[in-house]
Formats: sequence, C-alpha cells, structure tokens
Amino acid sequence: MTPEQARQAQATVERALGGAEVNPYEMFRAQVDLAGQKLGYPADILELVKRPERVVEVSIPVRMDDGRIEVFTGYRVQHSSARGPYKGGIRYHPSVTLDEVKALAGWMAWKCAVVDIPLGGGKGGIVCDPTRMSEGELERLTRRYTAMILPVIGPQHDIPAPDVNTNSRIMNWVMDTATALRGEPMYGVVTGKDLAVGGARGRREATGRGVVIVMEELLAQLGKRIAGTRVAVQGFGNVGSVAAQLLHEKGAKVVGVSDVSGALYHPEGLDIPALVAHVARSPQRWIAGYTAPGVEALPGPEVLTLDVEVLVPAALEGQITADNASRIQAQVIVEGANGPTTPEADLILEARGRVVAPDILANAGGVIVSYFEWVQNLQNFYWDEEETHERLASLLRRAFRGVWDHAQKHGVSLRTSAFMLGLERIVEAIRLRGIFP
Ligand code: GLU
Repeated sequence: MTPEQARQAQATVERALGGAEVNPYEMFRAQVDLAGQKLGYPADILELVKRPERVVEVSIPVRMDDGRIEVFTGYRVQHSSARGPYKGGIRYHPSVTLDEVKALAGWMAWKCAVVDIPLGGGKGGIVCDPTRMSEGELERLTRRYTAMILPVIGPQHDIPAPDVNTNSRIMNWVMDTATALRGEPMYGVVTGKDLAVGGARGRREATGRGVVIVMEELLAQLGKRIAGTRVAVQGFGNVGSVAAQLLHEKGAKVVGVSDVSGALYHPEGLDIPALVAHVARSPQRWIAGYTAPGVEALPGPEVLTLDVEVLVPAALEGQITADNASRIQAQVIVEGANGPTTPEADLILEARGRVVAPDILANAGGVIVSYFEWVQNLQNFYWDEEETHERLASLLRRAFRGVWDHAQKHGVSLRTSAFMLGLERIVEAIRLRGIFP
C-alpha cells in the first residue's frame, strides 16, 4: 500500500465507523466500502449489498425446569439470496445482538461468494447462556425457535447450521422440529447434523481443517511450512481445538492456547492430544485445570501477543483491535473466527507487514462441507470421508489462489482482495437477475 492509499483507506474506515465504538455490522460495512472503493462501485450498489434483505426477530417463550416461563430474544437475518439460498449458522451466546447477527449474515454471503459455492448468506442467534441451561431447557428453546423461524427457513430457502455454542445435537432438533411441523422429511433444512440423521462425514472438523489448509497455502507462498512453526490459538472450541490438533499432527509447535477460562503456554509446544482429552473430561469443556510439566497459565488475552510465527484467532469477533494490533508478534494471522480483526487493526497490521488470511476465506471450510451435506441430503446419496476431504481441499485451495493472485495484481491485502472478489460476484448476480419489479 502506498502512503496515499493508506490515507485513503484510513479515511474510508473512519467514515464507515463514524468514530463509534466498534460494532460488528459497522465493521462489515467498512470492509465492503473499502472493496467498493477499489472497484469504483457506485454508492447505491454498495448500500444495496451492505443491507440485509430480511431481518426476523422472535420472542421465544420457554418453560424452565423450575416452572417459570422465560422469554428469550432470537434473530434470523437473511442478508443476500442473490447467489443462492441463505446459508449460515445459529449462535447461542449472552452477548448476541442484532447488529452482530447482521454482520455475521453479511460475512456469510461474502464467504460463500469468495469460495464460489451457490449459496447466499444468513445467520441466526439467540441471546442466552447455554452453559447455565439444562439439556431439556436447551431442547425446548431450540424447538420453539425453530417453530418461530420455520416460515422463513427451508431446504430451498434458508439453511441454518452450527455456530458458537451450538452443535450437531441442536441441529438434529432443528431438523426433527421442522420435519414434525411440516409433516414430511426435512433433512436438508439444516446442516451440521449427526451422521445417523443426515449429517455429512467430516462436517464437525471441517472449519478447523479448512483453517489448516489455508495456513499451509499461505505459508507456502511465503516460503514457509507448518512443521516446526510456532503457533498460538485463541479459542478451543470446534474450530480452535480441531485446528490445534491438526497442526500438532503436522509437526507445528502449538505453544499457546486460550478459551474463556484463561490461557496455557509451553515454550516447546503444548501436548495438544492430552489437552483435548482434558477438555473432553472437564464438565464445562474448559482448558482450565490442565497441568503438565513446563505448562504455564496466563491471562486469556495474552495468547494474542505471544512470540509466535502464526496466530489463529478462533473465538469471537473484535479481538484484534487498535489497542493491541501493534503488540501482535505473529507474522501471519489465520482467522478461524468471524470478524476477529477490526478494520483499524487491519490497517495497523498491514502497515507492520503482517499477513492476514481473512475469516471469509480461512474459516470457509465449515460452510463448504455444509454445502456438501446439503447436496447429499437433497440427493439422499452419501459420500465417504475421503471424498469430502479431497473436495474440501481442492475447493479451498482454488479459492485461496484466487484471492492471493487477485491481491498481488491489485496491490491490496488478502482481506480487501477477498472482499473485492465477493463483491464482484454478488453484484454480478444482482445485475444478471435485475431489480424486481
Ligand atoms: N457457522 C459457520 C460459519 O460461520 C458455518 C455456517 C454454515 O455451515 O452454514 O461459517
């Protein structure tokens, strides 16, 4: 980036964020604006693609175990159907907000466009703390939420999936509820289900596997390889723990990991299989309480600024900010989470020569295998694990090379390159379809 380009980017980010505290939807809008500016797209088109097509808010009554009725707030945001049915996960978290779900829905539309699968973008969320709910309460919450959004979801319309704090068990309930209410099998209404009820082999590990594939491709471009590389992973859920395990198998030294309970550090690399076994035994599925010779406990946020070559933020959005971006030591950042880096932090990292594999590419493995699951549901024909792995790797490698070459050609960051490619594809679909009426 030339100094003039840097000034221009800074001005766009400041205008889009309006000096406000960073809000994920404003982050998304700023990212689209930066890409739109590079492509010279007019303001009306950009406004159209930044706005969600439909927002649904529901008040979900749940009979709690103690007999009380609690009313939870839930959302389903349908960002774009220009390239195909809406697609995206459902998040259960106390800090869910409408603007967060709107951002996540927009990122899904871009993610599907960047990896070029025929799906649009959507996202759902419920404001709740699943760690404080019983299995029965979670099931009743999920089934009632499904019933309330059923008018807007469906295998040809909008297909939810897992996200933060949701898993295959919850997806099974979504499928079963839709099936019961519609009175016909509805396997393709949701992805991320268990194998016995229409799930796809390899879906659970797909996001973490994709993170590692993208990391491998990026390191290769930089003349490096995974074996021997020092890595830190923020978040030890479905994305972080699988990525850490695969990296460990490939000979990387995963020296630091963190989750909501804190961080662990070992200068020679943590024993990831032992840590995974500890988490599986822990009632809350936390890394806290794990001990081994040479392992040090650190405050959670310190995992971001460890002395490593590669950092994998795989927790929530807004983690790498203007406050800590100048202290990040990693040369390479591979985003397993959605929206972990704010646009201001991006500019700081770029000025410091750090390379970021953006979320909409790096964590796309999950939705790619969701796409495979949906295709298998529609055909009622199921693939073996090897086929899934091969197709995932070839799709993601092709997408990585597209984003990399486009970035070199235009002299932009990988994020701006990915946003430009996604924007071009979404706008092309809108142009071909035309504006109704
Ligand atoms: N929640 C995942 C994501 O953010 C997966 C979405 C899906 O599979 O539809 O990409």
